Amino acid sequence: MSTENTLVIVMKPDASVGQIANVTARVQQIGARVHLSEGEEQTIIGVIGNGSPINCEQIQSLAGVERTVPITRPFKLASREFHPQDTVVPVNGLQVGGRRLTVMAGPCAVESREQILETARIVKAAGGHALRGGAFKPRTSPYSFQGMGEKGLRLLAEARQVTGLPIITEVISPEHVPLVTTYADILQIGARNMQNYALLHAVGAAQRPVMLKRGMMSTIEELLMAAEYILSHGNERVILCERGIRTFEKYTRNTLDISAVPLLKQLSHLPVIVDPSHATGSWELVIPVARAAIAAGADGIIVEVHPNPAEALSDGAQSLKPERFTELMASLDAIATAVGRTL
Ligand code: PEP
Ligand code: MN
Repeated sequence: MSTENTLVIVMKPDASVGQIANVTARVQQIGARVHLSEGEEQTIIGVIGNGSPINCEQIQSLAGVERTVPITRPFKLASREFHPQDTVVPVNGLQVGGRRLTVMAGPCAVESREQILETARIVKAAGGHALRGGAFKPRTSPYSFQGMGEKGLRLLAEARQVTGLPIITEVISPEHVPLVTTYADILQIGARNMQNYALLHAVGAAQRPVMLKRGMMSTIEELLMAAEYILSHGNERVILCERGIRTFEKYTRNTLDISAVPLLKQLSHLPVIVDPSHATGSWELVIPVARAAIAAGADGIIVEVHPNPAEALSDGAQSLKPERFTELMASLDAIATAVGRTL
C-alpha cells in the first residue's frame, strides 16, 4: 500500500463535476485539506494530510481519477507539482504574475509628503505599476533613520489616492501587521526577516498579498520553506523576491543570483520579482541588472527611485534619478517582447 501525506490528484480530462466533488469529499472525510486547481484541460486536487497517511491506491480507484502524484519536496503548497499553473496574485486592480510584467518603484523610505508625492507622480508618469516606500525600516545600525512609521503609511495612502498606484511597504514585526495591513496593498517581508517565523505566521493570517524577500544568506529551499509558512495559513497571495545574496564580492552590495529566477519558476508556481537596487547597491548597475532580470524570466522588478538621491535618508547610492527610471522603463518594452511578455 502506498501512503503519502501530501499529494496531488490529477482528474481525467472528462471527469464530471460530480466525480470531482466526490473525490474532494472523500479526501476531506479523512481530515485532509483540499486545494482545487481547475485548469483548462484538467482539474488537479491538491491534498495536504493532517499527519495520518493517505492511502493512494484507494484514491486512485475513485471514479474520474487519472493518477495521484506524491509531493516529495519539503515545500508543498509552494511547489510547482502541487499547483502546475503560474499563480497570478491580484493586488488592488493590478495582477502580479502572468504575461504582463509588474514594475514597483519608489524610494527606499518615505521621507516627507513632498518626496513621496513627487516620486509617486514620477513612477506613474514613467509607466510604473506600484509604489514602494518603507515606513518601518530595518536598518543595520540603530542610529540610522528608522522610517516615519504610521505617518509614512498615511503619506503612502495619500500618494495612492493621488496616482492610483497600489502601495507596497515593509512590515518588520508581528504586532505591526494589523496597522500596516490597513494601509498597504502588498506587505513586504524584508531579507532580514525572511525567517522571522512569528512575522510569517502573522502575514499568513493577514489575508493581504505578501512579497517575501530572500534572506541575504538563505538558500532557495529556505526561501520556499518561508513562503510555505505564509501559504499554510491559507494566504495564497505570495510573491517571491530575489534581492541578491551575500558573497565574497565587495564591489557590489550583494550578488544577484540570476539563476534563482528560472529555478524558482521551475520549482514553484509563485510570481518572482527581482530587486536590482539591493542586489547591486549602485545605481550605475541597476538598469543593466533590471534588464537581465526580465530577460531571465522574472515577473517584474522592484526598483528604488528618488527625486534627489544625493539627499536620500537611506540607500541614495542605489537609487535611480527620475530620468534614469524613465529611461529604464522605455527600454524594458523590447526585452519584454523578446521573452513573450508585455509591460
Ligand atoms: C528595502 O526594500 O528597502 C529593503 C530593506 O530591502 P531588503 O530587505 O532586501 O534588504
Ligand atoms: Mn532600501
